[in-house]
Amino acid sequence: DAGVAADSRPATTVLNATVLADFESRFNHRPAGIWSAPGRVNLIGEHTDYNEGFVFPFAIDRRTVVALGLREDRIIRVASSFAAEAIEISLDELIPENLAGWSAYPLGVAWALGRFGADLGTVPGFEAFIDSDVPIGAGLSSSAAIESAVAVALNDVWGLGLDRSTLAQVGRLAENRAVGAPTGIMDQSASLLGKADGGVFLDCRSLESDVIPLGFDAARLDVLIIDTRVSHAHATGGYASRRASCEAGAAALGVSALRELGLDDLPRAAELLDDETFRRVRHIVTENQRVLDTVQTLREHGPTRIAELLDASHVSMRDDFEISIPELDLAVETARGAGALGARMTGGGFGGAAIALTPRDLVPDVEAAVAAAFAERGFRAPVMFVVHAADGARREQ
Ligand code: ADP
Ligand code: MG
Repeated sequence: DAGVAADSRPATTVLNATVLADFESRFNHRPAGIWSAPGRVNLIGEHTDYNEGFVFPFAIDRRTVVALGLREDRIIRVASSFAAEAIEISLDELIPENLAGWSAYPLGVAWALGRFGADLGTVPGFEAFIDSDVPIGAGLSSSAAIESAVAVALNDVWGLGLDRSTLAQVGRLAENRAVGAPTGIMDQSASLLGKADGGVFLDCRSLESDVIPLGFDAARLDVLIIDTRVSHAHATGGYASRRASCEAGAAALGVSALRELGLDDLPRAAELLDDETFRRVRHIVTENQRVLDTVQTLREHGPTRIAELLDASHVSMRDDFEISIPELDLAVETARGAGALGARMTGGGFGGAAIALTPRDLVPDVEAAVAAAFAERGFRAPVMFVVHAADGARREQ
């Protein structure tokens, strides 16, 4: 198949209705409310987060929805549309060591809230039912969506009053400690701070963020996701070795993080570092600059002109950071050839998805060209769909 049509996805209103019905049939009462949080796509700024640099993701119009109600005792029960049984645990046993599987995400958030001000010794238990139209494992951060949806829900029902940037740290702590994934703060920040037609420009050192208007709709531009369906699960080694190269480069150049280096420092880096470490460093330094340039270009010239920065980002990841794969390169080249203004792989690399900034009228042409090119090369058919920048986590009902 050539992919999933954008308009075939269920609207959040449909998800809200099904999650409500599923909650009621599972737990036999009405929930206190329904909350949701979106997935995200990274427009530009790859592997810059752990180098304390800049990222520029946006929240997408695919959401994870949670219906949640308090209990009178200390029991937590969570269920999801793709898990047959509700998972049950007492608040008194809620530690990362006791959590595993998909429920480590919502339960990890409950635990992590205890590290940010919730008194887990006195709060009541709860029941939650979770459903989502964020594709799982496609690099659109269904993990941040589930964490952020549960975080805003518990923040409300437990009356914690935590702000969005603190809730992002709650989600990251849950993912790092309860799930055991060494991820940064980008995904949760996008899911919690996103705005319709806005990108979340995030400084990963200060954690300061700014929502920048993207202007895609006004310019009749769409962001087409091309999910190669090549799993990036086996990429742990590649991710770890890139992090190690960045740390080695920073140490050799006498800085605490590569964030401190600018384009002016590259000649010195070329002299001091071996070729491979130098190219890793050059990707981070130039990618940070491209994020800054993207924000400035959007402000001064609008979205069409960011296309060349997306292209340059892909080349840097392909040649300097070496995290692309043939499927991603083919997706990017074919999309460009069929009318996309700019395209790049997005996410950690070694699989996952590419994005193509495409004039709305040309999206069908790009999809057809990419589908044909993948078929010709004998690659698995990619899944393609358009995403729009959407509002971050919110209460639905
Ligand atoms: P990604 O964030 O790229 O989609 P991850 O591997 O980081 O992929 O997170 C996916 C995992 O998050 C799933 O395997 C599951 O454990 C959990 N998860 C995400 N969405 C849901 C959901 N709607 N219901 C239950 N678990 C979910
Ligand atoms: Mg994830």
